[in-house]
Amino acid sequence: MGASRRQEAAKLILGADSPAIAEGRVSSVQTISGTGANHLGALFLSRFYHFNGEKKAHISDPTWINHFAIFRNVGIEAVTYPYYDPQTIGLAFHPLLDTLDTLPDRSAILLHACAHNPTGVDPTREQWGQICDVFLKKGHYAFFDCAYQGFASGDLDNDAWAVREFVRRNVPLLVCQSFAKNAGLYGERVGALHVVAPSKEAADRVKSQLSVLARSEISNPPAHGARIVSLILNNLDLFEEWKRDIKTMAGRIIQMRDELHKLLTEELKTPGNWDHIVNQIGMFSFTGISPEKSQALTEKAHIYLTQNGRISMAGLNSHNIRYFAENLDKVVRG
Ligand code: PMP
Repeated sequence: MGASRRQEAAKLILGADSPAIAEGRVSSVQTISGTGANHLGALFLSRFYHFNGEKKAHISDPTWINHFAIFRNVGIEAVTYPYYDPQTIGLAFHPLLDTLDTLPDRSAILLHACAHNPTGVDPTREQWGQICDVFLKKGHYAFFDCAYQGFASGDLDNDAWAVREFVRRNVPLLVCQSFAKNAGLYGERVGALHVVAPSKEAADRVKSQLSVLARSEISNPPAHGARIVSLILNNLDLFEEWKRDIKTMAGRIIQMRDELHKLLTEELKTPGNWDHIVNQIGMFSFTGISPEKSQALTEKAHIYLTQNGRISMAGLNSHNIRYFAENLDKVVRG
């Protein structure tokens, strides 16, 4: 990505009218998709962040499993903070907030910008506001991972709300951006790392260091996927078409959630509460079933999900949803 392309990518996540971009405070580097952005962000922190005491990154419990290896790989210990409450199959909001409040000042904390993987549980705007209050009070650093912009609500701006709010309130932060899912470019590995600095001078120094790190690892990023993204972001008609496509895709997932909920609660009357299916957000859903029941679904019905009970909502469609619901009902009763 050339400088203008990187800035278009920054605008997509930080907002076209972002004061941080206008003030030249954002350093953006093209990365090997979201994974590469996480790696470069972690490497950058490992080299240059003034850790308060031990070199630790705080990540949600649970999280995308690769976060552990990515931080370990650059010499940062990844430790978890409470995020998910198995009782409610929702956010463990107070334990989360209390833990952030008791961590040492200036801790580095990873947050999923939207559509949390694997739980599908996101804070509400009000809860984000309170999380942001704690970040400001403690001087924490926000390491935003944004792999699913558009997947939560179907609207790119809506899904960027938390990141923009943290930028607006001047929380020190970086954002890892992936185009793998929202632009259907998984195999092309298109992503970016955006570091928001307090001043243009600081941003220039950050950019220089990021370029050195990236050069030693990948020399130059792959071209073709980035050109496709650039074409879409710089052409109003294509951009509007892409936004419509994202809405269609996210709407289809939301529809599958509604249908699955209806099948389980109204038709099959599956024991338990299934409201989390419709309350969760994005591509994944934590069903709340045990590893044994997850395994039974795979072995008896060839339904493939992770052992922790996470299903990909994108894998459900009008042809297979009844089969899935009936078999889920069977293992829950069994
Ligand atoms: N972060 C999270 C939370 C993810 O779920 C993923 C993909 N599974 C990534 C980062 C990596 O994204 P990419 O495929 O763009 O490398």
